Amino acid sequence: MSDTIQSRLLDEIAAREADLVRLTQDLVRIPTLNPPGRCYREICDFLAARLKAGGFHVDLVRAAGARADSDAHPRWNLVARHDGGRPGECVHFNSHHDVVEVGHGWTTDPFGAELKDGRIYGRGTCDMKGGLAASVIAAEAFIATCPDYRGAIEISATADEESGGYGGVAFLAEQGWFAPDRVQHVIIPEPLGKDRICLGHRGVWWAEIETMGRIAHGSMPFLGDSAIRHMSAVLEEMERTLYPLLAGKHTAMPVVPEGARQSTLNINSIHGGEPEQDAGYTGLPAPCVADRCRIVIDRRFLIEEDLSEVKAEVAKMLEGIKATRPQFDYEIRDLFEVIPSMTDEDAPVVTTVQAAIEKVLHRQADFVVSPGTYDQKHIDRIGRLKNCIAYGPGILDLAHQPDEWVGVQDMIDSAKVMALTLRELLG
Ligand SMILES: [Zn+2]
Repeated sequence: MSDTIQSRLLDEIAAREADLVRLTQDLVRIPTLNPPGRCYREICDFLAARLKAGGFHVDLVRAAGARADSDAHPRWNLVARHDGGRPGECVHFNSHHDVVEVGHGWTTDPFGAELKDGRIYGRGTCDMKGGLAASVIAAEAFIATCPDYRGAIEISATADEESGGYGGVAFLAEQGWFAPDRVQHVIIPEPLGKDRICLGHRGVWWAEIETMGRIAHGSMPFLGDSAIRHMSAVLEEMERTLYPLLAGKHTAMPVVPEGARQSTLNINSIHGGEPEQDAGYTGLPAPCVADRCRIVIDRRFLIEEDLSEVKAEVAKMLEGIKATRPQFDYEIRDLFEVIPSMTDEDAPVVTTVQAAIEKVLHRQADFVVSPGTYDQKHIDRIGRLKNCIAYGPGILDLAHQPDEWVGVQDMIDSAKVMALTLRELLG
C-alpha cells in the first residue's frame, strides 16, 4: 500500500468528523423502536437519499410475510451497492437499524442525540447507529480517494436484529443477498470496541418444559397431583446434576466476558397453577392443586458441543426422574435454536481488519467471541458465507442501558480501520 494514499485516506476521514457526528445524530433522531418496529421506512428513506447522492445503487426490500411484518409495521431493509468499475470482490457492511425500548433512568433525551464532551448520547448510539455511520463515512472517504477501485462496496441497514433478525438479515440471506458469488467479505459494525475483532458467537437452545398434574381442592391435595412439586423435582435435579455438568464444559472460543467460556443455562421463567390476576384484582386466590407447571430454559452452548447432545442431556435427566418418581409426566417443546458460529482467525476479512487496527491504533487487535448471538448466524447458516466478523465502535456494556453513548474519537478510529480495510481488499 502506498503511504501517500493511506495518509490521504486517513486525512479524508479526519476531515469528515463533523459529517460523521451529524449523520449519527440524524440516525439516532429517527426512533426505530423494536418492538413494534417503528420508522423502519423512514430510516431506510433517509439513508437511501444520502447513499444515492454518493453514487450508490439502492434497493429497499420489505421482508413481506416474515415474522412480525405487517402493514402497520412493515419490515423495511436497505441494501446499497457501489461498483468501482473494475472486477474484484465485494465488501459488505451490515448494520441493524432497529433499537430496543428506552427503559428508565435516562438523564438525557433518548432520541435527542446530544453531543457532550466528545460523546453522542441516545438510544442506539452505541448499538449500533454509530457503527452504521462510521461505515458510511469510511465508504464515502474511500470512494473519494480511490474512485477507480476493484470490486464493490455494499452497505445494508436491516430490521429486527434485536428480535432475532427474521425480518432483516435472515430474510435477505434467504433471498440470496449474501450469496458467496455476490458478497465475499462481511463486517457487522456492532459495538465490540475499536480494537477488538469478534469472530462469532455461542449457540442457543430455548425450550419449554411442562410438568403435568391433576387439579383438586387445596384442602385435600392427596386427591390431586401437584405439577409444581413435580417441577421442583426437575429443578432439584438440575442443581444436583445438570449445573455441575455444564460448569465442567469449557471452550477454546475467546468468549467475553470470561464467565461465558463454559456452557450456561438460565431459567427464563416459571409459571404454575392458577394464573396471576390483574393488578386491580382485590380478591383472594382459590385453593387448587396446580395441574400444570412450565419453565422456559435458555441453554447457551459451545462450538465443541453438538445441539443434539445438548438436548439429549436434558431429555436424559427428565427420563431419569420419570423412572423413579411416581406419576411424573412431562412434555418438552423446542422454542428457538441457533448453531454456534466462529470465523477462522486466518480468514481474509479477519487478517485485513487486524492489520488495519495495528496501523491506526498501533496495537494488536484482540479476538473475541460474543456470549449471545447476532446477525452473523444468518449470514453463516442461511447465506453460507464464513468470511464474516463483527467490528465497530462503542462499548458493548452500554448497549440497551440508560444514557447509552458512543465516543466520537472511537467512531473516527473505527472508520479509519474500515477505510484501510477497503483499501487493502479493493484498492
Ligand atoms: Zn446490536
